[in-house]
Amino acid sequence: MQYPEPIAQLIESYMKLPGIGNKTATRLAFYTITMQDDDVTNFAKSLLAAKRDLHFCSICGNLTEDDPCPICQDKSRDQATILVVEEPKDIISMEKMKEYHGLYHVLNGVLSPIEGTGPEDINISSLLVRLQKDETVKEVIVATNASSEGEATAMYLSRLIKPAGIKVTRLAHGLSVGADIDYADEMTLFKAVEGRTEL
Ligand SMILES: [Zn+2]
Repeated sequence: MQYPEPIAQLIESYMKLPGIGNKTATRLAFYTITMQDDDVTNFAKSLLAAKRDLHFCSICGNLTEDDPCPICQDKSRDQATILVVEEPKDIISMEKMKEYHGLYHVLNGVLSPIEGTGPEDINISSLLVRLQKDETVKEVIVATNASSEGEATAMYLSRLIKPAGIKVTRLAHGLSVGADIDYADEMTLFKAVEGRTEL
């Protein structure tokens, strides 16, 4: 006995999301059918709108409706510091803290030999281009997560960037090993930035 085509399609779509297997996808698909019409319509609309209206900033890799993103366009920010994060959502965490006023660069990933993610798969070359083009940058703060991949990525960046005479620092380990920066509370983040150490 097979599922009717519309349900089978829906299950297949949910399974394309990260961390969702057949069982969860099936549960979500059947749940979707029981939802209010309006909720389903809004869900579908927000999926389409997010995909249509959001782009990666051509300078920093942040998700944005405008290119360059508002942070890259803001000339009142400290142009001499770039803070490197793994994901666009990490910028939201840093901005909530309100103590960091420099620029950002989003790698959109980390180096991971296990998953086969190499330097060419994440936004490293665009960071180097930025540093070469713009000699106002004096410090790069690497704020990748405290996971082994995050650490390896920080060391890799440090080796690439330091020879250019730019200071490379790493967030202090107020963040426990394996902690994502988007889960860190504002005080912890503030202390991690304040106590950053040179790589
Ligand atoms: Zn930007």
